[in-house]
Amino acid sequence: MALTLEEITREIKQFCSERDWDKFLKPKDLILALVSEIGELAECFRWLSEEELDKILKNHEKKKKIEEEVADILYWLIIISDKLGIDMLKVLENKMEINKKRFPIEESKGVHTNPIDGSKGRR
Ligand SMILES: [Mg+2]
Repeated sequence: MALTLEEITREIKQFCSERDWDKFLKPKDLILALVSEIGELAECFRWLSEEELDKILKNHEKKKKIEEEVADILYWLIIISDKLGIDMLKVLENKMEINKKRFPIEESKGVHTNPIDGSKGRR
């Protein structure tokens, strides 16, 4: 059975504490670590066609690298949220309520927006 967010947060904190890493966990460095891991995830996708990516996602061994980078991102995000006193699930729940109002189904279905190109999709 998968751990809850509270349990995995406790495990990560213990992992860091046992290694005396707490002194390194400053907000600026935590953000840089998160961004670095996002970059590592992006590297997994770089230059691949959709067909090549489909093959990788169907290959358990190759997909593992992507899964590890996702885990690294979650690891840092959990530490950042804990250090900043942010309840990740609560703020996500709040943000989803905002998103539902910001993107009502009748106006948003089948439409994407781009900051340069504006709204596109539905005809
Ligand atoms: Mg990584």
